Amino acid sequence: MPTIFTKIINKEIPADIVYEDEKCLAFKDINPQAPVHILVIPKTEIRSLADITPEHQELMGYLLCKVTEIAKAQNLKEGYRVIINTESHGGQTVYHLHIHIMGGRQMNWPPG
Ligand code: AMP
Repeated sequence: MPTIFTKIINKEIPADIVYEDEKCLAFKDINPQAPVHILVIPKTEIRSLADITPEHQELMGYLLCKVTEIAKAQNLKEGYRVIINTESHGGQTVYHLHIHIMGGRQMNWPPG
């Protein structure tokens, strides 16, 4: 099912886009939990990490490589956290696969 992220991909609603190509989009989280909080999403509609199959192997590798590039472009030299909230116990609220990049402050462990 399309989500609000499909509307962002289709430019039907605005987002603060920091990177875009034919396979993915990265934009600032509307409710940032860190000084830098970016979401990286595939343009293909995939519900969650739980729906990934071997056919997605190349795309998933591609997205992770983009995470590294985007983190570098954001100057997150001291590190950052990468999160994929998955389904309800994982705290997922938007059911379009997305990778959070959070940085610019010290992260703690364990997360809540
Ligand atoms: P999750 O809880 O992992 O599903 O994360 C969904 C994230 O999407 C949350 O951090 C929201 O703040 C963010 N979000 C929801 N709607 C928008 C939007 N229109 N633009 C940017 N970020 C959004």
